[in-house]
Amino acid sequence: MKKPPLIWLNVILFAVTFLGTLVLIPWRGMTDGYDAVEWLAFIGLAYASGLSITAGYHRLWSHKAYKASAPVRFLFALGGALALQNSALHWASDHRIHHKHVDDNDKDPYSANMGFWYSHIGWMLREYQAQRYHDYKNVRDMQSDKIVMWQHKHYLALALLMNIGLPAFLGWLNGDIISMLLMGGLLRLVVVHHCTFFINSLAHIWGKQPYTDKNTARDNGILALFTYGEGYHNFHHIFENDYRNGIKWWHYDPTKWLIKSLSWLGLAKDLRTSPQERIESARLQMQLLHAKNQIAHLHNYDELLERIHAEYELMKTHLLEYYQAKKTLLEAKRQQLVDTQLKTQVEELKARFLAQQKNWKLLTASYC
Ligand SMILES: [Zn+2]
Ligand SMILES: [Zn+2]
Repeated sequence: MKKPPLIWLNVILFAVTFLGTLVLIPWRGMTDGYDAVEWLAFIGLAYASGLSITAGYHRLWSHKAYKASAPVRFLFALGGALALQNSALHWASDHRIHHKHVDDNDKDPYSANMGFWYSHIGWMLREYQAQRYHDYKNVRDMQSDKIVMWQHKHYLALALLMNIGLPAFLGWLNGDIISMLLMGGLLRLVVVHHCTFFINSLAHIWGKQPYTDKNTARDNGILALFTYGEGYHNFHHIFENDYRNGIKWWHYDPTKWLIKSLSWLGLAKDLRTSPQERIESARLQMQLLHAKNQIAHLHNYDELLERIHAEYELMKTHLLEYYQAKKTLLEAKRQQLVDTQLKTQVEELKARFLAQQKNWKLLTASYC
């Protein structure tokens, strides 16, 4: 089959910036060196642009995982121009299709089933889905956001201003325009490009599937370090409206920390989280599946399967009962109707749930 035509602008942009980085960054480093301010600008602008994509383009605009005030949305619009990944409107339109048709090679714009290269960068190099480039039906809600539409309309000017104007200005302040253009402009752009592209490529290839195996998305703590916390992608594909990707407090998810901090400052609100029992149920189901696979070759398969199923059912019942009671308690607290009987009941259900969880862990661990 004949391949669609190349998008020369993208081919040249990616090739020139990548090769330029390989040649110019070490050349300037050897001939002139970089000072601390230039390194700080590289790191600062990498976070500013990367987080604008993950907290802004992704969790705010594509998934409506929270609401952000106008100054925050304005900064995300500027940071998104700095990241040079097209306008928020276009990006979110692509991304919503990615979630809706994940892994479908005909519909998912960056389907991981097409391989690493395609899902990482190849999808942007040819006109694979030219017919829907200007179809923004699936982002109608975003079109009422004046900041989104302003950024979309002036994207090219903003991108040039942020990628060349801003580093040049910082370089002028610091007394070396060329070095700042290389560190805060070129190197930062290429690094952030590929780190965020990893979310579409590596985060669909490398890692575990603790919540679902219905798609290729993976959870990977190492990848989270390079993707501003988006490495917990298996969780994200099943609970896409959750403002977190790494749900444990110790999961490296600076995007989640930024959103939470913004809410403390009154700059973000209505942070959405998925019900804990749904998260744990999904996890439990995957553990059951995993255990089943592990015992498939054993001679006493039927007997083991029966036991595993019985423990699974018990675990599920205890889980749901505990979370239901917890919800009732919370509601009672809100209405200031808490009695000791209710509290004790929740405590008992919790103890029963934790005991069963221990049993379940021991049982499943013995087959892994
Ligand atoms: Zn994905
Ligand atoms: Zn997403």
